[in-house]
Amino acid sequence: MEWWINMPKVELHAHLNGSIRNSTLLELAQELDKKGTVVFSDFEHVIRKNDRSLREVFKLFDLIHMVTTDHQTIARITKEVVEDFAAENVVYLELRTTPKGNDSIGMSKRSYVEAVVEGFRSASSSLDINFSLNDLEKCPARTGKMIYVRLLLSIDRRESTAAAMETINLALEMKDMGVIGIDLSGNPNVGEWATFLPALKFAKEQGLPVTLHCGEVPNSVEIQEMLDFLPGRIGHACCFEDEEWRKLKSSKIPVEICLTSNIRTETISSMDVHHFGNLYKANHPIVLCTDDSGVFSTNLSNEYALASSTFGLGKAEMFQLARKAVDYIYAGNAVQKELIKVFESAAETLEYN
Ligand code: 5GP
Repeated sequence: MEWWINMPKVELHAHLNGSIRNSTLLELAQELDKKGTVVFSDFEHVIRKNDRSLREVFKLFDLIHMVTTDHQTIARITKEVVEDFAAENVVYLELRTTPKGNDSIGMSKRSYVEAVVEGFRSASSSLDINFSLNDLEKCPARTGKMIYVRLLLSIDRRESTAAAMETINLALEMKDMGVIGIDLSGNPNVGEWATFLPALKFAKEQGLPVTLHCGEVPNSVEIQEMLDFLPGRIGHACCFEDEEWRKLKSSKIPVEICLTSNIRTETISSMDVHHFGNLYKANHPIVLCTDDSGVFSTNLSNEYALASSTFGLGKAEMFQLARKAVDYIYAGNAVQKELIKVFESAAETLEYN
């Protein structure tokens, strides 16, 4: 694994609450069990389970959300997630999370996102971390591991149009705190595209890039409508039919590919038939991602190693794939230029054979 860990990587599809360390999750559940808020054994069983259907994954998220409710915990898990990505040489991370309000503890969607930003800040005690354009201008001294971190705000498919609109407005207000785009996620069997479209259109008009979870379950009408919207990127694209592949390929919309997640949730039957192979051969823009590194017990280095061994791609080809991901990030040209330098310098030191 060492080579894959040493290779610089770009992560564009990682959900905060899906990327929590198992040890942290168990610790938090234990604490709340003592307070009588949750039953620890419920958690232990689900957390330690390896294979889960897509339906079970969403049940697990409901459990996870029960232990990650307060500001301090949100800041803590964010810090740890950033540290874990940086530790495996992820040099640019677009983390995504669904802003959540909880009146009983004085949490608003805004204070939730502020807690995430606080987590970024506290990660800077052990890392060179850059999470806003202002930081880039400051040119932080590069002493240890360096990582650029940006935030996408997710709209959950359970939400109303008004709630989705609130998230877009929040993203616009928090632009200078590292929020750079919008994601649509949540249980694909819930909610209607028409509910989110007005808010997503507004985001686009305001210059906020949008990425959509698209085609996790068969739903031709929705997939086509999503592609017609021309999002900046889409995630997964597992259940596409011929017409949708044709549309996708002619649109050149980059696809965030999450191999382990798709296999674990059984949205793809086996790795060798995964659409990564087809899209790679067609030279379609793709980027390997983890989705939920905690929930699926993976990391980005592992995803690169897996793609290499499954599809017979060498280290040089995988390095190029990682490098190409820089073209699809939502942070602007200034960050792209810095990242290209990071890849150029790595190309001089990494051995490819
Ligand atoms: P959070 O937004 O709470 O930080 O991260 C967990 C949330 O991300 C889940 O509740 C769900 O809405 C979304 N999510 C995580 N993994 C997946 C996935 O594989 N598919 C979809 N559609 N949504 C996901």
